[in-house]
Amino acid sequence: MKYVEVILPLPLEGVFTYIVPPMLAERLLPGMRVLVPLGRSKHYTGVAVRMHEEAPGFDCKEIESVLDEQPVLLPEQLKLWEWVADYYLSPLGDVYKAALPAGLKAEDGYRPKTETRVRLSPDVYTASAVSQITESLKQTPAQLKLFQSFLNMARQRCSSEDFHAWLPSFSLTREELLNESRSTMATYRNLVKRKLLQPFEHEVGRLNKGGEPHFNQIKSLSEAQQQAYDEIVSLHRKKNVVLLHGVTSSGKTEIYIHLIRKAIDEGRQVLYLLPEIALTVQMMARLRKVFGNRLGIYHSKYSDAERVEIWQKQLSDDPYDVILGARSAVFLPFRKLGLVIVDEEHETSFKQQDPAPRYHARSAAIVLAAMYQKAKVVLGTATPSLESFYNAQSGKYGMVTLTTRYQDIRLPEIHVVDMKDRYHRKLTVGAFSNDLLEAVREALSAGEQVILFQNRRGFAPMVTCKDCGWVPKCQNCDVSLTYHKRLNALTCHYCGHTYFVPEKCPSCGSQEIRQRGIGTEKIEEQIGQLFPEARIARMDLDTTRTRSAYERIISDFSAGKTNLLIGTQMISKGLDFDHVSVVGIMNADSMLNYPDFRAYEYAFMMMTQVSGRAGRKGRRGRVILQTQQKELPVVSHIVNNDYLSCYKEILEERKMFRYPPFFRLIYAFVRHRHESVVERAAQTLAEQLRSWFGNRVLGPDKPSVAKVKTMHIRKIVLKIENGFDLAVARRCLWQAQAALEGDKRWSTVQIYFDVDPQ
Ligand code: ADP
Ligand code: ZN
Ligand code: ZN
Repeated sequence: MKYVEVILPLPLEGVFTYIVPPMLAERLLPGMRVLVPLGRSKHYTGVAVRMHEEAPGFDCKEIESVLDEQPVLLPEQLKLWEWVADYYLSPLGDVYKAALPAGLKAEDGYRPKTETRVRLSPDVYTASAVSQITESLKQTPAQLKLFQSFLNMARQRCSSEDFHAWLPSFSLTREELLNESRSTMATYRNLVKRKLLQPFEHEVGRLNKGGEPHFNQIKSLSEAQQQAYDEIVSLHRKKNVVLLHGVTSSGKTEIYIHLIRKAIDEGRQVLYLLPEIALTVQMMARLRKVFGNRLGIYHSKYSDAERVEIWQKQLSDDPYDVILGARSAVFLPFRKLGLVIVDEEHETSFKQQDPAPRYHARSAAIVLAAMYQKAKVVLGTATPSLESFYNAQSGKYGMVTLTTRYQDIRLPEIHVVDMKDRYHRKLTVGAFSNDLLEAVREALSAGEQVILFQNRRGFAPMVTCKDCGWVPKCQNCDVSLTYHKRLNALTCHYCGHTYFVPEKCPSCGSQEIRQRGIGTEKIEEQIGQLFPEARIARMDLDTTRTRSAYERIISDFSAGKTNLLIGTQMISKGLDFDHVSVVGIMNADSMLNYPDFRAYEYAFMMMTQVSGRAGRKGRRGRVILQTQQKELPVVSHIVNNDYLSCYKEILEERKMFRYPPFFRLIYAFVRHRHESVVERAAQTLAEQLRSWFGNRVLGPDKPSVAKVKTMHIRKIVLKIENGFDLAVARRCLWQAQAALEGDKRWSTVQIYFDVDPQ
């Protein structure tokens, strides 16, 4: 008897065993989809993982059918799924759900796109039939005209000596026919009714054809770029991963393009990952020019049908050479992957938050590459993530540094504005210092463009002293506290400690302690009143719900249709605008005080990236950075573009407070409808974990968002030192989860993990 292990698209551990009926055994291969029964009446499309002949110790059902002629997953993709499930402690079924486009999950979900074409009916081909019909149509001139148009178009396109023998193979689209003959739909229908014309549906691809590649469009590299390129190539002989640390606008993208061509020349495929869909628009245009139809695009704003077609093309004999995509593109099949580029590698949006699997696409990409012989990875950024830089310093990754911008354009001048002082001296209007307003005015009147950056985290509820800028911090964790309006209390994310809101500022005695948080919308309103003639656009989650909305905001700004762009982190990333002379950072404090151990790292990255949008071509740009904490070292690191000092300082803190890269973090979340249940279940889980992991376990505590969709949440933090056996840790976590879920008292409690949280 043959058995097969099947992954089902359900949030359940592991695989399910089914019997393979002899009739299907020959056709079935790992990676094919199979239709299987589950329970009394349900059916699912599963993916076959492996076949064997060992009877399991329980009854199992038969698979009902095999849905594919060829596997839809290659062995590498299956292995990647298993790695993601294992490493991120998430059910294999959840990985399946995330990885495969919906149209491939159900047997009827994907409908090919078709067009209506028209041919002659089978008995109309011969010369005599044609003349007979022509005769009979004389009474209806409109129909005759349409019929003759069809024949004329056929004659024009006929490539054969014998027109009538060739005619049966000829067809054209209905649209073409109606347009060319200038006929109405009614006339056409009459000819169909008379069984002279025969319509049929023809399958057409949705994929953008993209035109021929033009490798001659590749720009030649500058001396510094060529040197970086050579170093990358030579480091790749020794290391699988190379970090390219190049300042904004140094030409990293041009270097990638050369690396991609090299891979293609060697007959290998390339995966180019970007953190955010907003960026793929510009990058697509740049890569399209060079790689034309050899380039495929893949991300979640594409329709499911488009994604299915790209998936199938990747499995075909003529797959794309280059795939440009966001996070989920890491799951696409590749036959001969040679290079993975992770652009803007520091971006946290590479990590999936919800739902499971909570995977990091950078890590997954590195694991994916390791499965292919000779496949290499380039991580590129102007502001490396602490983890990647640490890996480079410790020799695990190679590193290449580019310190000059292309054509030696100078980095922008960063002007720090002390908002404490400006508030005192009443030199502000709304959220703006006079300094920033002056800079905006100058830029706009010179016909230049302005970007105003407001961190999304500006919405995070916090309290601050209006007079001295004091922000309450946790005694145990050295992070800023979050303000809970309903409780009128301050809490720490990390240890769960709760504090009263002080009546007076402990630093200066002022009673002006207030909540803060100002959003992009408010800024838009204020700037609109101050500069009624400015053409303003806003780019944030609200204004970019669709792919076309992103594209329009970016292209309008690029083309100068708008001249002032307000935005969240979305605008801080890699976008390349030519006429931006001023960048305003509205509120650096919202980043600096964010209650997260990564606050300074993110603040440095974000402000450095957004500054990089200023003054790309022509003259030096200006950045106005508004803060109440100008004395913080991280602020001067940003001003001096001093990554190394910033890195060293943060690393010290990370070591002291037991954070990555010295410790690995795993969060365990417990979720239930009733607060008292979740409270007790989380306590039980924490005790169980403490019995194994000791003081590596912190909590449970209330996360900042402690209730989502009527579910109460508790969080347990696990800090595991480097060197601790992770496989053991994972087994313990699975076991603790299984024990809790198996306990009648907690049977409806949900537990899930976040490994390497961002
Ligand atoms: P980065 O990716 O490092 O931010 P880009 O590759 O976007 O930098 O380069 C910034 C700008 O300079 C782009 O407009 C790019 O086309 C141009 N550029 C960079 N290198 C070259 C080169 N070698 N030849 C021509 N233009 C270049
Ligand atoms: Zn104060
Ligand atoms: Zn704390």
